[in-house]
Amino acid sequence: MILRGIAASDGIGIGKVVRVQEQNLDYSAVKYGGKEAEKDRLQAAITQFNEKTTDMAEHIRTQVGEKESEILTGQIMMLSDPFMQSQMGEAIDAGQCAEAAVDQVCTMYAEMFAGVDDELMRQRATDVRDIRSRMLAILLGVTGVDVSRLPAGSVLVARDLTPSMTVGLDKEHVAAILTEVGGRTSHSAILARALELPAVLSVPNAMEQLKDGEQVIVDGGEGVALVGPDQSTLAQYQTKQEEFLRRKALLAVYRDKETVDAEGNRYALYANIGSTADAAAAAGSGAEGVGLFRTEFLFMDRVDMPTEAEQYEAYLAVSRTMAGKEVIIRTLDVGGDKAVDYLGMAPEENPFLGHRAIRYCLDNPDLYKVQLRALLRAGAEEKNIKIMLPLVTSLEEIRGAKALLETCKRELEAEGLPYHKDIPLGIMVETPAAALIADLLARECDFFSIGTNDLTQYTMAVDRGNAQVENLYTTFHPAVLRSIRNVITAAKEAGIQVGMCGEAAADPRLIPLLMTWGLDEFSVSASAVLATRAQIHHWHTAQASQVTQKAMGLSTAAEVEEYLKSAVQ
Ligand code: PEP
Ligand code: MG
Repeated sequence: MILRGIAASDGIGIGKVVRVQEQNLDYSAVKYGGKEAEKDRLQAAITQFNEKTTDMAEHIRTQVGEKESEILTGQIMMLSDPFMQSQMGEAIDAGQCAEAAVDQVCTMYAEMFAGVDDELMRQRATDVRDIRSRMLAILLGVTGVDVSRLPAGSVLVARDLTPSMTVGLDKEHVAAILTEVGGRTSHSAILARALELPAVLSVPNAMEQLKDGEQVIVDGGEGVALVGPDQSTLAQYQTKQEEFLRRKALLAVYRDKETVDAEGNRYALYANIGSTADAAAAAGSGAEGVGLFRTEFLFMDRVDMPTEAEQYEAYLAVSRTMAGKEVIIRTLDVGGDKAVDYLGMAPEENPFLGHRAIRYCLDNPDLYKVQLRALLRAGAEEKNIKIMLPLVTSLEEIRGAKALLETCKRELEAEGLPYHKDIPLGIMVETPAAALIADLLARECDFFSIGTNDLTQYTMAVDRGNAQVENLYTTFHPAVLRSIRNVITAAKEAGIQVGMCGEAAADPRLIPLLMTWGLDEFSVSASAVLATRAQIHHWHTAQASQVTQKAMGLSTAAEVEEYLKSAVQ
């Protein structure tokens, strides 16, 4: 059987299917089994919760750290509280099943804690919500796959690969990824490329079509998965896999080279990262800096907000790893397809057009200030950190962030804490509004970075993760290309640095255009650094400019793409 989807991350993976189910915690069909039976079920679930949580806490203590592990041991203590347990018992006496008793009591505590104006109490609210969902999963017998302990050679199959799932992912044991949703620039695709794992996304009904343990070959470059291959197919793909790895090894000669074109003109080549660990990988891959640190990943897969101290440590670690090199850190870009449960963001009809990113942060200054203070402080040592705002559409947003930054500086000054007084502030240009007023925005910020993933999505009015409209999602559309050109020109005229951190920066077919327009900095996933450097190396100014002129004279995305395919090797 051959399954087809979107080629999202190159490479060949051969292994066995492990399906990762989403948890359904709906207990409306559970029948009340009487006081005794429900109380027994409740006690058995509490015992199981305690055992599992102790085990998880121990694992996290050795893998992550003492503090993170204490969050879990704290949950065991909360659930052991006799008063809380007696309230659950009373709910059962009143005719509720164990699931409803847990749900009611935990929700009541969560609301109570959330209403108190104290950071510690609010954290407790998140803990109780976590207890609630894990207890319900135990009672309902809903089991999830532990992605941090997978058997070697696992091909992960899921409806979607969420960022929180990948945080604890045991990458060494994953051969490839298959999902039912997501496009080339969806976060699942970006994560797969960052992890250098072959991935095919938007495979219809993958969860139903595949069985656990089945052998499958995933060709992330072609966008196909071959289920139950015969010996000759297997041998053919093993050869293809070796060839892929050989080509990758050949690029190693570019690791210590400068990023210059054929005439010696220099470009900055940075990496996109999502964690402090990625920073080391980026440095090892030959990146000359970090062009985008997606800080939202620090906020995911945990039960509460990272504190100022935690954020400070993370930013400082990246800054030190990259000492002497620029580190562009993007402030919290939540919402859209990046959910963070404990922030309690309300569900929206159109999350990509909703209360997200800079909009959410400016409306929650207390939360935003924690991040800004951490960034200012972390910038004091190496002075290589730059702050970048996501999803900007207006000057007011830049001014709003600047005002908050000034407040934070005053606070830090009064507290006698060292910080970087002149920390540069730039923006992502990733909305049509920002692209159209790039000249106005350039006057009030220090740099631009073009986010083509969102710029394409919003310019084309096409959801970047929806497979049904995938063919309409294209950066080759003249509207998107003109927009990019406009942004680079505006930055050049204002004399500010302009980079690109969207996936298009690593597309060989677009590189000559970006070079011609004068892009200063390319920021790509760590796995694409060397290939991008190799591409830049082979262009002469005149050749690149000729290709650009020809491409910009064409009228449709298909024409542009076809032409660039033939013109760029
Ligand atoms: C972009 O939109 O191009 C970008 C780099 O940001 P993200 O993919 O995180 O939305
Ligand atoms: Mg974006």
